[in-house]
Amino acid sequence: MSRVYNFSAGPAVLPEEVLREAADEMLDYNGSGMSVMEISHRSKLFQNIIDEAEKDLRDLMQIPDNYKVLWIQGGGHVQFAMVPLNLMKHKKADYVITGQWAKKAWQEAQKYGDARAAASSAESGFTYIPKAEEIEIREDADYVYICLNNTIYGTAWHELPDTKGKPLIADISSCFLSEPLDVSKFGMLWGGVQKNVGPAGVAIAIIREDLIRPDIEEFVPTMLRYDTYANSGSLYNTPPVYTIYMCGKVFKWLKRQGGLEAMQKRNQEKAAILYDFLDHSSMFVPTAEKDSRSLMNVTFVTNDKELDSLFVKEAEQAGLVSLKGHRSVGGMRASIYNAMPKEGVVKLVEFMKDFEAKHANR
Ligand SMILES: *Cc1c(COP(=O)(O)O)cnc(C)c1O
Repeated sequence: MSRVYNFSAGPAVLPEEVLREAADEMLDYNGSGMSVMEISHRSKLFQNIIDEAEKDLRDLMQIPDNYKVLWIQGGGHVQFAMVPLNLMKHKKADYVITGQWAKKAWQEAQKYGDARAAASSAESGFTYIPKAEEIEIREDADYVYICLNNTIYGTAWHELPDTKGKPLIADISSCFLSEPLDVSKFGMLWGGVQKNVGPAGVAIAIIREDLIRPDIEEFVPTMLRYDTYANSGSLYNTPPVYTIYMCGKVFKWLKRQGGLEAMQKRNQEKAAILYDFLDHSSMFVPTAEKDSRSLMNVTFVTNDKELDSLFVKEAEQAGLVSLKGHRSVGGMRASIYNAMPKEGVVKLVEFMKDFEAKHANR
């Protein structure tokens, strides 16, 4: 067996230790004689899995007691719809457009109410996060929506916007559990787990209890209401049991690594290795503005499309896979999530140096 260094943006690399544990338990989970995929979601065995996963997540993120943790199928795109359906009380919300995922969330919200762009970095090709003074929040907005880490463009918020007291709603899909976050600053956080947490299949919403409204419009489907999940412990219908089990294992792995402060330190170290190289390279150019750089997704180009393709191809042959940038922007992207070991980043930089030397006279 040989494992590669996988720089995919998602679904993405998982900790090898976790995959091995899951493999060991595949045929017989905890003496049950069954795989987790085969057990009832109403069984005590599964209830323990989901309870423990929630407890570990609460410990890791220090989630206050007045926030609920909800496990919701449908991934990110379903959250684009659920947020306005549930939280746009007066049909007015302000979105900061920092990339394609924020834009899609904004467009989905427009189907339902008056969703406005409070600021946008579209004109630059989303290379930066708008400054506080560029962001216009309406007095009567129901909430302010941001995408905390912009997976496609490699940018991230390093300072939260002043929402003038409106609940801040954030998509944290691609920076979920990458560093400590003060949950109390948000009305709701949600993340698809397939970027930095677990296998595809679920989004986790962490929502302040007072925002879960029972009085939303009748037409909203049962499975698109936050209260359905809150009132049933996310067990209204069959949840993705295996995904939840795997997320639980990753939470335990994160605790063994020393929690989110330790992860932050490691992630900063990894990102610094790559950005330092990019800042000094004569071939590779980082695309995100310095003060908006993401620790998780590092985007860069050579300014020569053919050379970009060649790089991606040769890297793959060297066991460094999925470095191609998102289909909407091209170039390269190295996603260096929690489970990417530092050695992977060091290998990548060594490879880039060699590539640069080899193709210098192109
Ligand atoms: C991948 C991604 C999404 C979309 O998630 P799906 O589960 O594919 O719908 C949304 N937001 C961010 C930040 C992402 O990285």
